[in-house]
Amino acid sequence: MARYKDAVCKLCRREGEKLFLKGERCMSPKCGLERRPYPPGLHGKQAQFRRRKKSDYALQLRAKQKAKRVYGVLERQFRRYFEDAERRRGVTGTNLLVVLESRLDNVVYRLGFAVSRPQARQMVRHGHVEVNGRKVDIPSYLVDPGDVIAVRAGSRQKSIFKEVALDLEHRGVPEWLSRDDAGMSGSVLALPERKDIDISFDEQLIVEYYSR
Ligand code: SF4
Repeated sequence: MARYKDAVCKLCRREGEKLFLKGERCMSPKCGLERRPYPPGLHGKQAQFRRRKKSDYALQLRAKQKAKRVYGVLERQFRRYFEDAERRRGVTGTNLLVVLESRLDNVVYRLGFAVSRPQARQMVRHGHVEVNGRKVDIPSYLVDPGDVIAVRAGSRQKSIFKEVALDLEHRGVPEWLSRDDAGMSGSVLALPERKDIDISFDEQLIVEYYSR
């Protein structure tokens, strides 16, 4: 499966804001964006002083790129999510965010079992997560209301999950999920609504991008 392999801090620097892709490092002075607050590339430093008005297309493209990067999705899959969102009832932009939030790696992150979505993705890939009692190692698996997501019993003995267990009570859970700290599991109470998604996306710009 294709995935982004370059330095992830470049993604934040390109978007000009923190996308929180590296867990604790994102909160520290080592954050790539704090150390180099300008776009990556040869002329990135000069670019920060240019104040050109962005075209509609540029704004739409950046909105789409930001959402892709936050959720770690590449273009082809992101377009598929958009087509799925269009087919669903309701507002396409909101539907798109709901689909993205329903990804298993995102749910593992939202439950607090990982410090970032990339780490959650790796946990899923390495077979540490089960859904309704069955191992699922596909990060893009979409959860449904009623699903129970858990760290597998054998994996809980690993040092990384022992650390997670100790810190779990300090990690919040969104309203659409519930968590059983002792069992290192969580349930999907309902699919999220727009107000439950705490990232500042302008999803209408993404819809406009794909409607050109
Ligand atoms: Fe982005 Fe985190 Fe890297 Fe900072 S440390 S640039 S927030 S991924």
